[in-house]
Amino acid sequence: MTVAEELRAAALVSKAWPYEEARKLLKRYPDGPAKGEILFETGYGPSGLPHLGTFQEVARTLMVRHALSEMVDWSSRLIAFSDDMDGMRKVPPGVPQQDMMHAHLDQPLSRVPDPYGCGHESYAAHNNNLLRQFLDRFGFDYEFLSSSDCYNGGRFDEALHQVLRRYGAIMDVMLPTLREERRQTYSPVLPISPRSGKVLQVPVEVLDAEAGLIRYTDPATGQPVEQSALGGGAKLQWKVDWAMRWYALGVDYEMSGKDLIDSVTQSSKIVRILGARPPEGFNYELFLDENGEKISKTRGNGVTIDEWLTYAPEESLAFYIYREPRKAKQLSFGVIPKAVDEYQQFLAAYPAQEVEKKLGNPVHHVHAGKVPEARMPLSFALLLNLVAVASTDDKDLLWGFVKRYASEASPETHPELDALIGYALAYFRDFVAGSLRKRAPEPNEAEALRDLDRRLAALPAAAPAEEIQNLVFEVGKAHGFENLREWFRALYETLLGTSQGPRMGSFIALYGIDNSRKLIAEALALVPEA
Ligand SMILES: [Zn+2]
Repeated sequence: MTVAEELRAAALVSKAWPYEEARKLLKRYPDGPAKGEILFETGYGPSGLPHLGTFQEVARTLMVRHALSEMVDWSSRLIAFSDDMDGMRKVPPGVPQQDMMHAHLDQPLSRVPDPYGCGHESYAAHNNNLLRQFLDRFGFDYEFLSSSDCYNGGRFDEALHQVLRRYGAIMDVMLPTLREERRQTYSPVLPISPRSGKVLQVPVEVLDAEAGLIRYTDPATGQPVEQSALGGGAKLQWKVDWAMRWYALGVDYEMSGKDLIDSVTQSSKIVRILGARPPEGFNYELFLDENGEKISKTRGNGVTIDEWLTYAPEESLAFYIYREPRKAKQLSFGVIPKAVDEYQQFLAAYPAQEVEKKLGNPVHHVHAGKVPEARMPLSFALLLNLVAVASTDDKDLLWGFVKRYASEASPETHPELDALIGYALAYFRDFVAGSLRKRAPEPNEAEALRDLDRRLAALPAAAPAEEIQNLVFEVGKAHGFENLREWFRALYETLLGTSQGPRMGSFIALYGIDNSRKLIAEALALVPEA
């Protein structure tokens, strides 16, 4: 078998979740897609700045798309769809020009002027643009589509005719899901008032499905209005809108958050009424903040894309997003260092793995099969400890330590390490600096530290990390620590001021034996006089 054949054979049976998802598409089209391609879709509501929820949906969907490409030779596209025809129900807090924004309440987001004054066509266009910047930054392959463009430009007109034709059947699906008072005013079609520009939530009568004509009473004037629902004269209510879009665009795959399970159920019924199949997909768990609470756009808890990228490289974010999409995961600043280091571990393991194992390795999906070489000689955790003890924000000074540990590395040859040093400085400054508390060693720990100091003094300055690590182990054993973990924790707490830390041998090699002995002396100086 060629390498490509081997990969395909392994992909077809792989249990990694992107392949499991792609397999649903193979079942959907046993003879290949009749329309010649598979259409993936992701959704975005531009009523606020793009957040990680939106971003992860695109990243994960592209992982499924790539998995499919390893299994079959079908062409496919991903549409990143923005719901910018939705009415602005409330003015987002923190946005400038609140008075101006209030004057545009209930108008489609794409008709609300850009409050940031940077010249975008609308508030939605401003947010859409930010989303695209993030997606482009990661090199994602997608086509951006705006709801307003589709409605206004007539792209949805044929599907809107179909909605008007099947109006009664759609009402029959929706009405039992609504509470009594909502039933009185519910309409799948929301006219856009030519008078006020607002998206109206009023009962609507279909006058002529073929002509696209509807009638309703304008709530402001009490007057009956007849208008076309086509070409931007109306938009659809959420669940019907989603179904109509699946039908109009021919969407084969769309994943969504657990909060949308009910929408998926109703929209799936409606798309069948329109005459198409609901897309494949699954409901992922939503991210939680550090207190285990749902992350909400308006509350601003959790971590934004920008924030994550202030403290860690892009790959670590994609890596974090890849793992366990059906498990509720924390998205807080605390998870960043571990994500960075685990990504590097998986990257380092990849080249030697059998193809089956490679396909289960997150880096295969993070990099769409084009996995770069692992070139990171130090972990983020180790760098954070270095920054802590070196108490400097001077990158050059830190490079001095790093070169002692990894002599072949320099900012020129290892730009990713250079960047990681910068991230470690930023992360330390904002999350670690204030929390370090060194404690005085207990008497038995002080004994062990003195012994460690003597043995370190006997080592050559360039002793390798492995040798130092063995020595630290021996000292722990010699001083009767039942559990060596206790010994290492004592080292972290007395020398570094944290409760967990790096491999001590690596740390001492990086920081230098002389410098490490100074740390030991400082710790011993805290021992109260007997
Ligand atoms: Zn703008």
